[in-house]
Amino acid sequence: MNPDAVRTVAVLGAGTMGNGIAHVFARCGYSVILRDVEQHFLDRALETIAKNLDREIKKGKIAETERPSILARINAVTKIEAISRADFVIEAVPEQLELKRKVLGEADRVLRPEAILATNTSSISVTALAAATRRPDRFLGMHFMNPVPVMPLVEVIRALQTSDATFETTMKLCEKLEKKPVAVADSPGFVSNRVLIPLINEAAFCVMENVATPEAVDAVMKLGMNHPMGPLELADFIGLDVCLDVMEVLFHGFGDSKFRPCPLLKKMVSAGWLGKKSGRGFYVYGGP
Ligand code: NAD
Repeated sequence: MNPDAVRTVAVLGAGTMGNGIAHVFARCGYSVILRDVEQHFLDRALETIAKNLDREIKKGKIAETERPSILARINAVTKIEAISRADFVIEAVPEQLELKRKVLGEADRVLRPEAILATNTSSISVTALAAATRRPDRFLGMHFMNPVPVMPLVEVIRALQTSDATFETTMKLCEKLEKKPVAVADSPGFVSNRVLIPLINEAAFCVMENVATPEAVDAVMKLGMNHPMGPLELADFIGLDVCLDVMEVLFHGFGDSKFRPCPLLKKMVSAGWLGKKSGRGFYVYGGP
């Protein structure tokens, strides 16, 4: 499909990533169909998008006059049939293989044959997800970063079956969204999580082995390596459960002991210390 022929985009899942993806497409003039299973998830997503647009207006990134038309371009729906006119679809439902297979299968059935289906998965094999559809050549990974309206990167992941045309269209579409696409092959953790999460895991080992406190580890990486956030601060922001899941994917995917999850990380997740979202991780949040 010619990237200029993409006018209507559907986003499946209106959570953290889905609302950000819908925001960016609507801001760039696309007609967006945002689908979730229940109306209250959609209401929450539209509220978040409106709030984030206000932030962009304050920063001078968009004009106040654009706000109503951006919001009007987002059509929130609960029925899968409502996505049938989409030219391009991005799936952003929770990171569970069976759920993704089901959602992609439903979308595949209602879409026109030429529509492209993309997944925002962080760790599931894009090749395996492509195989769950009847359009594996028109399937690929589009890994946006959180928060989507702010972060420029999109990892564009080619499944074994992805056609050149699908890949080219998606790379050009990212540019139209004013994002920076980087092409990577389908491999556990792609590049982003394969490099980032072991860094966090190693930082956790430093704490477990009493090499340094979390504050000291983060200070080393911020002051010495110019990282805007320390790895443990970042781990708390991402969620320690999410970090552990990715380490498990790398460990099992490569069968290499260098990816073994840090026992301290496992213990903290078992304790329910999941980071910012649970009020405690490597740091304590929201206390007096
Ligand atoms: P989330 O839990 O915030 O949102 C998922 C949404 O999907 C929820 O609103 C849920 O109601 C909805 N949903 C569930 N079943 C559905 C269905 N059948 N149809 C439509 N919607 C359905 O999750 P998230 O953090 O936005 O993650 C979504 C995907 O993006 C995952 O694959 C995740 O690995 C990936 N990802 C997340 C991040 C991140 O930082 N959060 C970054 C990159 C990629």
